Amino acid sequence: MTTVAVIGGGLIGTASAAWLLADGFEVTVFERDPEGRPASAGNAGVISLPEISPLARPGTLASVPGWMLDPLGPLTLRARDLPALTPWLGRFVLSARPSQVDHATRALGFLMKTALADHQELARRAGLAATMRRAGALYLYDTDAGFRSGLAEWKERARHGVDYQEITANDARQMVPALKGGFARALFAPESWTVSSPLQILLGLRRAVAARGKFQTAAVENIHTDTDKIAVVTADGVETLFDRILVAGGVWSRDLVRKLGLHVHLETERGYNTTFSDPGFEIEMPVFFTAHGFVATPLEEGLRVGGAVELAAVDAPPNFARAAAMCRKMRRYVPDLPEIGGKEWMGCRPSTPDSLPVLGAHPKDPRIVFAFGHGHLGLTLSAVTARHASGLVAGKPRERSLEPFGIERFQ
Ligand SMILES: Cc1cc2nc3c(=O)[nH]c(=O)nc-3n(C[C@H](O)[C@H](O)[C@H](O)COP(=O)(O)OP(=O)(O)OC[C@H]3O[C@@H](n4cnc5c(N)ncnc54)[C@H](O)[C@@H]3O)c2cc1C
Repeated sequence: MTTVAVIGGGLIGTASAAWLLADGFEVTVFERDPEGRPASAGNAGVISLPEISPLARPGTLASVPGWMLDPLGPLTLRARDLPALTPWLGRFVLSARPSQVDHATRALGFLMKTALADHQELARRAGLAATMRRAGALYLYDTDAGFRSGLAEWKERARHGVDYQEITANDARQMVPALKGGFARALFAPESWTVSSPLQILLGLRRAVAARGKFQTAAVENIHTDTDKIAVVTADGVETLFDRILVAGGVWSRDLVRKLGLHVHLETERGYNTTFSDPGFEIEMPVFFTAHGFVATPLEEGLRVGGAVELAAVDAPPNFARAAAMCRKMRRYVPDLPEIGGKEWMGCRPSTPDSLPVLGAHPKDPRIVFAFGHGHLGLTLSAVTARHASGLVAGKPRERSLEPFGIERFQ
């Protein structure tokens, strides 16, 4: 039986491992911190099928100066990390060219087309109970001008088959009565799905992997590829041999990529949220506060409020004032949101400058496959990534539609 090491026990690694096991591989997942709560455990829980637009767009670049004026706004950058972030930011600006935006939208649209069916198949393969529902999502706009520019983006998405409805503020309030504050307009996206709990899905996938393969607590420090087997070396110096490896370590994948002789532009967009286990009211579906870059989602854990982007080093101390700022802003729309009692969290989105994950084989060694860099969409794209990753590990020829995701684009 072909042996596979999966490095990283987040959603991407465990979903891929579950898929690989069902495809008949012998799989070991290496996770250095099983008690940790990475992006995969604390995200907003939205399977955002409509979100096929890359982050780098002319409209985003135009908004940056305004956002940067607010140190707790939708986008901030830790000044001392600017030199390290500059190459990524340079690529981000280049990715906002219209031809690149079109390229990335098509590529994401390709993954998104099967994302839901792949989730259903993953749940079946991993024996997970029903964890998703088609709740739809609301997108609120504070001003008519904001609505018009948002609408232009949704019209572009509609060209790729994304469904949306323009609705009034009153329609939105009927759908989510807790929205008592003021806003100008709203959009409803019917094809947005919500999971009951990202953490429970992650733990369920880990249990499924442990039941049929191995889930090992260890940090992978090195990978040797110079013989017919691949040697995975963990921090305690133990070396284990495998036929194939899948690198799925979120933002930390970049260290292993470097050790494998390649380069990648991968930084973290850190995000924050606050979860209220008993807020005293319910919202019926995720609500995106578009002017402020955050979302509120009803989850099994309670009401989760968060998002925003903080460009900073992975190990910089968290600034939870950002989580509190989002709750403050949300009270303008939902005055009943409690002042206290929320649990704050910070997570590191693994992000490429073009918003496309890296999903493909090492150009010189097809035994090594990469699956990381899913940015804002790692939950949404975990199952479709798992399916393709398993095919790549099996050595199937790469489909043309997967070419935009190759690591070659960074060499
Ligand atoms: C605030 C916020 C909200 C979000 N909301 C959504 C959402 O609603 N919908 C959506 O689709 N996405 C959302 N995301 C994005 C999503 O959470 C991420 O894209 C996704 O979790 C990334 O998964 P991952 O497995 O690649 O990385 P991670 O979750 O970071 O997991 C990587 C794992 O690999 C381990 N690891 C790394 N290197 C090694 C090594 N050398 N040895 C052993 N172990 C290693 C790490 O310990 C870690 O556990 C959100 C993210 C944030 C921060």
